[in-house]
Amino acid sequence: MNYEVIIIGGSYSGLSAAMALGRASRNVLIIDSGEPCNKQTPHSHNFITQDGEKPAVISSKAKEQVMRYPTVSFENDKAVKAVKTDKGFEITTESGAAYTAKKLLLATGVKDIMPAIHGFAECWGISIIHCPYCHGYEVKNQKTALMASGDIALHMIPMLLQWTKDLTLFTNGEAIFTNEQLAKFKQHNVAVIETEIESVQHTNGKLNSITLKNGDIHDFSVMYAKIKTVQHTFIPEDLGCIINDQGLIEVDEFKKTNIPSVFASGDCTTQGRAVAMAVEAGTKAGVMINMELCIEAY
Ligand SMILES: Cc1cc2nc3c(=O)[nH]c(=O)nc-3n(C[C@H](O)[C@H](O)[C@H](O)COP(=O)(O)OP(=O)(O)OC[C@H]3O[C@@H](n4cnc5c(N)ncnc54)[C@H](O)[C@@H]3O)c2cc1C
Repeated sequence: MNYEVIIIGGSYSGLSAAMALGRASRNVLIIDSGEPCNKQTPHSHNFITQDGEKPAVISSKAKEQVMRYPTVSFENDKAVKAVKTDKGFEITTESGAAYTAKKLLLATGVKDIMPAIHGFAECWGISIIHCPYCHGYEVKNQKTALMASGDIALHMIPMLLQWTKDLTLFTNGEAIFTNEQLAKFKQHNVAVIETEIESVQHTNGKLNSITLKNGDIHDFSVMYAKIKTVQHTFIPEDLGCIINDQGLIEVDEFKKTNIPSVFASGDCTTQGRAVAMAVEAGTKAGVMINMELCIEAY
């Protein structure tokens, strides 16, 4: 099947782009493999009109609204290959289907790589959290752990002190801080523990304690963690998109990649991970893709 636009990734960012394009009566195909990064989080916060809603409720309502536009189609499938052609792109999926389009939007998010800490994955998004704006209010003023090191720790600590004054930094291995930085930690009563974490104990994802490799056990019910992320797919690289030092697809202010007619939006392009930001980026990508199509037809 031939479309004007193919959107790979049908979560918050991809659906937002599809809405703008559907409202411009563009023939759009969304291909989505159903693995949004926040799927394990019970409640999503900090997105107006949807504060505290279940993530899947937000996306299914978004999908239902987007699918009211008759020129938008949705396939539950995984895009596995993208090839540049004379007229645009050919996308092949895991199920063996092939689709073509003039423009391509990558709204594929990122995959969070769970550290080798027993119990961590089960707590991710429930009691081990990535962002205070998303989940910090619900655990404010609690005894809180932060698993981070280096510049990330130095970025997170001043911010998290706005949510709690009872903060312990777990660097999960040897950490190098200057005397000045260590003095600041002391000034704000931030304890630093360098011993590696062996496991976390939890009940249905709710953290009870952190066990270190030396056998020490620390009681905590909440932990912030900055973990490694990777792109969900090699498609951006295969197409020649520039991937920056942070492993993110490089885009300009209009969500264009360095490859003509390939756009990208949402978490796959930014460390600013929030539903509102993914929606904003998707809407902008949809608008810019339509504008490009309008100019080409003019
Ligand atoms: C644990 C956790 C909790 C969070 N909580 C909050 C919160 O409370 N509030 C908030 O504002 N933000 C929260 N966030 C951030 C927010 O979830 C993300 O910013 C947002 O989901 C990004 O939207 P996206 O559309 O870019 O990517 P995603 O929502 O991750 O969706 C990407 C989609 O692309 C699909 N995809 C990937 N590759 C392919 C492929 N090859 N073919 C087809 N489909 C593909 C995936 O299956 C997925 O459906 C949280 C994030 C995490 C990790």
